[in-house]
Amino acid sequence: MNNEAMVHTLEMHGYIKSRRVKDAFLKVDRANFVPEEHRSHAYFDDPIPIGHAQTISAPSMVAVMLELLDVFEGAKVLEVGTGSGYNACLMGCIGAEVYSIERIPELRKLAKKNMENCPCKDNVHLLLGDGSVGYEEEAPYDRIIVTCGAPDIPEPLKEQLKCGGIMVIPVGGTFFQELYVLRKERHGWRKRVWGDVAFVPLVGRYGHRWA
Ligand code: SAM
Repeated sequence: MNNEAMVHTLEMHGYIKSRRVKDAFLKVDRANFVPEEHRSHAYFDDPIPIGHAQTISAPSMVAVMLELLDVFEGAKVLEVGTGSGYNACLMGCIGAEVYSIERIPELRKLAKKNMENCPCKDNVHLLLGDGSVGYEEEAPYDRIIVTCGAPDIPEPLKEQLKCGGIMVIPVGGTFFQELYVLRKERHGWRKRVWGDVAFVPLVGRYGHRWA
């Protein structure tokens, strides 16, 4: 199995639907974002530990979220939960300007190292902090993606999304959540639930309170 074969499988199963998501997956080799000791599993459709009790999500989950997010070239995107940096790089390769925030300093460092060979790394800005409060400095965003499970939709993220923008966020408990796809409209929100998911918790001021 190699990266191309993984992408082909994700497409065959309907997780990858669009040309731009497919091209990004082809450009970014998942093996570069997986710790050495798990490299032999890099192309399996599984989450993989990246240290500090965190994971790189399964590639099918990453593909589903990117398709739901409808990222486009030139979009300004906020990602909460950089983790390995894989999803941030994929969005960078779609041509988005990505602001990705991570709360664990060692993981921010790891993501920077993982991204060294990413052809689109210049589109990705890695930040350190509590992403549950968003990143006001660059707001508003066309798209917001949260890659950890929130107890509720953080107010600051609602505020920092542009009108017409889309937010994809897992909402629920510390183990299981529902994946929400939210569109901010002039007079309110349109919400759709994609289905059940299992993410590590969003920990922070508008997240879960424990580390
Ligand atoms: N997107 C990542 C990738 O491509 O590898 C996977 C993210 S991992 C499932 C979730 C990440 O969210 C973890 O690295 C965790 O430390 C981070 N996280 C949790 N709470 C956070 C917060 N309040 N702000 C920023 N990052 C947070």
